[in-house]
Amino acid sequence: MNKTGQIRRLTDTMAIFISHVAKVLPDDVMKKLEQLSQAETQPLAALIYETMFKNQKLAAELNRPCCQDTGVLQFWIRCGAEFPLIGALEGALRDAVVQATLSSPLRHNSVETFDEYNTRMNVGKGVPTVFWDIIPEKTDCEINVYMAGGGCTLPGKAMVLMPSAGYEGIVRFVLDQMTTYGLNACPPLLIGVGVATSVETAALLSKKALMRSLGAHNPNERAAKLEALLTDAINAIGLGPQGMGGSSSVLGVHVENTARHPSTIGVAVNVGCWSHRRGQIVFDQELNVSVATHKGVYL
Ligand code: SF4
Repeated sequence: MNKTGQIRRLTDTMAIFISHVAKVLPDDVMKKLEQLSQAETQPLAALIYETMFKNQKLAAELNRPCCQDTGVLQFWIRCGAEFPLIGALEGALRDAVVQATLSSPLRHNSVETFDEYNTRMNVGKGVPTVFWDIIPEKTDCEINVYMAGGGCTLPGKAMVLMPSAGYEGIVRFVLDQMTTYGLNACPPLLIGVGVATSVETAALLSKKALMRSLGAHNPNERAAKLEALLTDAINAIGLGPQGMGGSSSVLGVHVENTARHPSTIGVAVNVGCWSHRRGQIVFDQELNVSVATHKGVYL
């Protein structure tokens, strides 16, 4: 296959995958929702979980997006430096978003800032957003697709704490956001927390944390302990599914960190909702695909 044909294949595969991600939640999210539903003791919360599962069943049967807000498309990429289509990838992803918008269909969610018109194709200046990690000497390419809905994006916040605020300051920052805006984001929530030097480094980490599989923890045991403590604390707020009260408020809390300047604690929080539409696909250099997040997907 020549290069044009390869780019076409990559684009078509991504369009089908984006469409699938809009309709079918990843296996780990469904499993977690089932666990939370089984552990739920409040009748209204149990009914809401039941409705969520019915929603997912109908979305698959009717071949429709499982939430009306199909979000702004983001791609988190870990691309081998030797992947043959590395230079064509951003263009292919943009074309794939347009294709998926028409075929799924996806809601029109890209408004040009300052000019205030909707492009009606889910593309625009800097949209879809692509975040790159280049992996030396590798030939494959991992693409994490994420649909950033409006409601779950709203609680996002980043700031720089004085070093004296300590780890308690991080906990206070996250809990303030969750008690103020958690309700808006269609719980149970996936909470991403980034800890680094500055607002931009912390913010990127907090969103990257949402790409991690549920049940996986930060490899640093103190960071993993912070994840567990925050999970307990946010559950104790009692948001419950859709914020109507219940035993659990979160799908999980993921903390990502880097080393930081000794005089600052950059901290950020990003939130995913119960309809956490994330999908991971890997292309090898021959464009064979494997999908880790959605069992049985046909591409
Ligand atoms: S927060 Fe999530 S489930 Fe709620 S409307 Fe937005 S995208 Fe849909």
